[in-house]
Amino acid sequence: MRKKIVAGNWKMNLDYNEGLGVFSEIINMVKDEVTGAQEAIICSPFIHIHSLVQLAKGYHKVAVGAQNAHQAEAGAYTGETSARMIKSVGAAYVILGHSERRQYFGESNELLAKKTDTVLKHDLRPIFCIGETLQEREANQHFDVIKAQLAEGVFHLDAAQFAKLVLAYEPVWAIGTGVTATSAQAQEIHAFIRKEIAAQYGQEVADNTTILYGGSCTPKNAPELFAQPDIDGGLIGGASLKSRDFVDIIKAFN
Ligand code: PEP
Repeated sequence: MRKKIVAGNWKMNLDYNEGLGVFSEIINMVKDEVTGAQEAIICSPFIHIHSLVQLAKGYHKVAVGAQNAHQAEAGAYTGETSARMIKSVGAAYVILGHSERRQYFGESNELLAKKTDTVLKHDLRPIFCIGETLQEREANQHFDVIKAQLAEGVFHLDAAQFAKLVLAYEPVWAIGTGVTATSAQAQEIHAFIRKEIAAQYGQEVADNTTILYGGSCTPKNAPELFAQPDIDGGLIGGASLKSRDFVDIIKAFN
């Protein structure tokens, strides 16, 4: 059975002490309140990762991830952070292909394919984000956009490598806007993604792939979204900055 996951993406928020505070609260609430086998992941800015990993020791339901990694192994790339460095401080996951990276930092599917290879090489699990813009949806191009993001970003992997991925469907028009995709809209795309995976790797791999929904997910709308057969959890931006909201979203599975 595929894993149910709720991953928080803190983006460029929370200073060092604030981050440790929110994370400690999350650990305590998950320990006391989350009864299922779900995994909670916090993808923090780089400066928090080492300390969060220390705090999470002994709590198998809580893991830590980064929000980006450079595609090169090492070298003269001022300001960048490598997958090897991220691995060395104990992170388990790396978000790749977030729409903010695609939009503000010009990350293409081709570049993201390279980043995926590097991250996997260092035994980190990518949380690979795909999703269409409002313009693309209105032009009825959303299925083609998703198909291309998968084909060009991750379908070069072999089945064993692909099995390490978590996918996140994040319609760009729903990120940070307060507008959520309806559960039917999200389910339609998740089912399409699973069908594409089955065509590439076979039904067993498709059935075992965790596909998260992201975009203005809250404790209020999470139960309906997570009840959909192809939605295996969420990638949470704004609501992951508040421990109570984040843990209540995890509890939406209950
Ligand atoms: C995100 O950035 O991945 C995200 C889903 O943000 P928000 O939950 O704030 O819409």
